[in-house]
Amino acid sequence: MAGSLSFTWPNTQMNEVSLFCKENIELQKEIDKLSNELTEMQGKLMVEWMGESVPVPAVYPNMKSTDREIRKKAFDCLGKADEAIADATDEIFDRLLVLRHQMAKNSGFESYTKYRFKEMMRFDWDETHCFEFHAAVRKYILPIKDKLLAKRKESLKYSSLKPYDLGVDIYGREPLMIYKKGDTESLIEGTGKIIKAIDSELYSYFCTIKENKLLDLASRENKAPGGYMVMYPVFEQASVFYNGVGLASDLMVLLHELGHCFHYFLGKDVAPYSLQNWTSEVAEGGSMTGETHLNLNQL
Ligand SMILES: [Zn+2]
Repeated sequence: MAGSLSFTWPNTQMNEVSLFCKENIELQKEIDKLSNELTEMQGKLMVEWMGESVPVPAVYPNMKSTDREIRKKAFDCLGKADEAIADATDEIFDRLLVLRHQMAKNSGFESYTKYRFKEMMRFDWDETHCFEFHAAVRKYILPIKDKLLAKRKESLKYSSLKPYDLGVDIYGREPLMIYKKGDTESLIEGTGKIIKAIDSELYSYFCTIKENKLLDLASRENKAPGGYMVMYPVFEQASVFYNGVGLASDLMVLLHELGHCFHYFLGKDVAPYSLQNWTSEVAEGGSMTGETHLNLNQL
């Protein structure tokens, strides 16, 4: 695979110019509107859990419960939540498919995939490399996964493994909850200590984000799903948005997103500004570094 790659410094601005097409402006607006509709629908979703109406992420810790019945209930509950919006989600995706294909055609591409690779500034690899990667995962990774699942089944002493058996600790330990529901202040405080121990410059960025109250980490009703960072170049700030519920994995997500923030702070003065328009592959370098620091230095 590596032998077929070639590298050239692309002109990212010229790339944007070559993709630009006036007819696509309205289509992009429609795509953004549909994407927002989907996010809104997911954020509004509430589920019945133990007699209470709660946002979807509140059920996640139960997928790690040592009680198999609770895990099954949580799995069914999350499944019902997906089902409740399945038709509406399908409809949005069907409409997006048509709009995106039209955008690609307007810009002179035969498919949205080819258009999207260019839009994502992926100049030195294409979908054929993705298929090669899929084949490699099938060949080398799936057998390892099968072995791990067999080990899990044996450790849990089950005759068959169900989808709701994949999150529980195989040694029978309760899920590791690192802060009480809603108490993201203690998550922030603890994370600050980790970052301070790693590097003083990164810690100063962390303090800036924290002091500007740009860490919105707790799950709540009507909150958009997922976790991500947002940068604000005009104010030279960055924020983290997430739906934390107290799980240990919340810390990993926070360090990942803070990695993106640190990347932004370290690169925000690079000139000309267009050079800051890095690809998502480059952006994930910053976030994965945030996670790796935790794994190497703190655990
Ligand atoms: Zn990321």
